[in-house]
Amino acid sequence: MSAHATAQLVKQQISLLDYLLSQAWRPTRRIARGRLMGLCPLHDDRNPSFLVDPGKSLFYCYGCDRGGDVIRFVELSHSVSFGEAIRLLRRWSGMGSLLSDVIQFYQVQLHRHLEAVAYLAERGVQQPELVEQMRIGYAPGRCLRAWLMSLGYSLCDLQQAGVVTREGLDTFAHRVVFPLDSSLYGRSIGSAPPHRFLRGGKGGLYGWEKVRSCRQIILVEGLFDWATLRQAGFHNVTCSLGTGLNATQLHQLCDGASRVVYLAFDSDHNGSGQRAARQLAQRLWTHRVEAFPVDLPDGHDPNSFFVHGGGDAHQFQALLERARA
Ligand SMILES: [Zn+2]
Repeated sequence: MSAHATAQLVKQQISLLDYLLSQAWRPTRRIARGRLMGLCPLHDDRNPSFLVDPGKSLFYCYGCDRGGDVIRFVELSHSVSFGEAIRLLRRWSGMGSLLSDVIQFYQVQLHRHLEAVAYLAERGVQQPELVEQMRIGYAPGRCLRAWLMSLGYSLCDLQQAGVVTREGLDTFAHRVVFPLDSSLYGRSIGSAPPHRFLRGGKGGLYGWEKVRSCRQIILVEGLFDWATLRQAGFHNVTCSLGTGLNATQLHQLCDGASRVVYLAFDSDHNGSGQRAARQLAQRLWTHRVEAFPVDLPDGHDPNSFFVHGGGDAHQFQALLERARA
């Protein structure tokens, strides 16, 4: 196939908006004819100057004066050649379907493995709807490779995506797995190091799209904190997967919207969670985001506050109010 024909095919198959969303770009407002405005991912943008036309699959930035189609966007954002941009996009679109097949496999395995179900129960995640909604799965450590290869993927595809190690073993073996925007997070239930992400890291804030228009947001550091708060009826929760926020996550919290952020990080005995929360709060204030660290009882995180500390929604709400007082 000629380079031109390949480029046409890539543009037909991959919508610019889908690609941008997978890279954690979010529109801040809708303008005429279904077009969207948001912060420009190509330059340090303070006022949304990046226009996306989903119908035409084109973008233009009024700040840095650059525009074009999805291939042009990848060329600019990754500083790569036209040919390399096409390769990246083809890999990205294949990766999307591979990841959803992996997630489905893990979801089925969850209910077949008592150790995984027991682990979720121990962490207080009980509502079947929530498990379904978060698409939580389990990697039993066998059968993944054979299953995916039976679907037509090559071993090389699996290794490139990072779901299988160089030795052909399941990267997430013996982990409870949570799908993220364009990655996976696995929490070890055995003796392995607790946290693992797919190559490419954690991406943006968890569930950001659903909370970004909330006037008040609770930010937690772990997905089990997120899950228990949801179960307790708090729907304005997001998660940074660790206390260190990456550039995408900071960008999201500082997108210019007026909001209050409660930082409910772990209350570690050595004070590291509280320190991280105070530092982040200061940083957010410099971006004119009102931010308040929440003091949890010593040794607790939001998950253990509910699950082992006997806390309830009413008491947690009181902690939020105290943080702001
Ligand atoms: Zn720009």
